[in-house]
Amino acid sequence: MDVIKTEMTPKERAVAYAAGEEVDRIPTNLSAGETAPPLYGYRIRDWYFSADIMVDVESHLAEDFGADNMGVGLGLRALVEALGTRLTYPDYGVSYVREPKFSSFGEVEGAELVDIDKDGRLPLIVESFERLMDAYGDVRTLGSGLAGPITTAGQLIDTEVFLRGMIKDRDGVHKLMQYATDNVVKCAHDLHERLGIGLALSEPMASRDLLNRRQFQEFYKPYLDQVVRRMNEFQGSTTIHICGHTRDRWDQVIGSGVSGFWGDNMEDLAEFKEAYGDRVAITGNVPPVDVLLNGTVDDIDASVRSCIAKTADSPCGFTLCPGCTTPVGTSREHLVAFMNAAATYGRGARRGHMARGIIEGDGPLAAEGR
Ligand SMILES: [Zn+2]
Repeated sequence: MDVIKTEMTPKERAVAYAAGEEVDRIPTNLSAGETAPPLYGYRIRDWYFSADIMVDVESHLAEDFGADNMGVGLGLRALVEALGTRLTYPDYGVSYVREPKFSSFGEVEGAELVDIDKDGRLPLIVESFERLMDAYGDVRTLGSGLAGPITTAGQLIDTEVFLRGMIKDRDGVHKLMQYATDNVVKCAHDLHERLGIGLALSEPMASRDLLNRRQFQEFYKPYLDQVVRRMNEFQGSTTIHICGHTRDRWDQVIGSGVSGFWGDNMEDLAEFKEAYGDRVAITGNVPPVDVLLNGTVDDIDASVRSCIAKTADSPCGFTLCPGCTTPVGTSREHLVAFMNAAATYGRGARRGHMARGIIEGDGPLAAEGR
């Protein structure tokens, strides 16, 4: 089975949807990339260190599935690695922290800021973007993302030291958060300036599952506000993804001035839409593990339909996407099912209006058996 052909290029779709016009299909992102190399016979470990492989995987993803997003993400760890945190690279898994840059908060003062031209894998990522833009720049808008301040800070120092610091060394935590914020901004700024791309923030550590609301207020909120304000200065608008439960802090997140919220499947998009759909664009939230990886093709179809039916009429717009990263091992067949359900139920989408694929599929004609 192949992906249903769509009429518009991603660039045409993005422009028309932003202008409030009807588009052929609801904007749809595949949060693959780092997790997709095995689909094309590559080890994930090799993908990390080869611009050729990164370009090949992104090109295949674009051509095979036709999602709207394209670009090599920094993932959660390219920035901390560039700053000196050491990572382990499994053959078929995403990287993880082996040894953080700092062993104590005392080491933060005077530490250098990131240099995208020479640190870690950043030069390889820049090269990949330049090649992808040459090949796809006329039909696609490329973009990238990176870990935000607290996810960055949490991987620059031992997690236990970081969490204990919130009780015993508040100044130390604030110094580290400022250092992380400065690096996130510099990295995003320099990539934007070099490549003309926008950068989105990803913050798994800002979830209620890891940070209570009081810690969020004290140690994160000021830096969230700051990072969004500083990034908006050069790229105009900034979106954020937070994993897990976030409902108790939606007000704080939206109050930071983000233009879009990519919600995890732990939260209900209909509820989010009611509260904030008139202020920010919404992205989400097909369950990546239970549905996309482990569900059936029918489960994927039903979940995509439900996401579109709940959220496609959100006033500031909706982009269909898995609720978090597409898991390693998700089959080609499942990704095709996801994209085809998007084309079916998301047909005739327009910002602030329900997609035709939902209205007409559920309407009197459907009841008559058509
Ligand atoms: Zn996530």
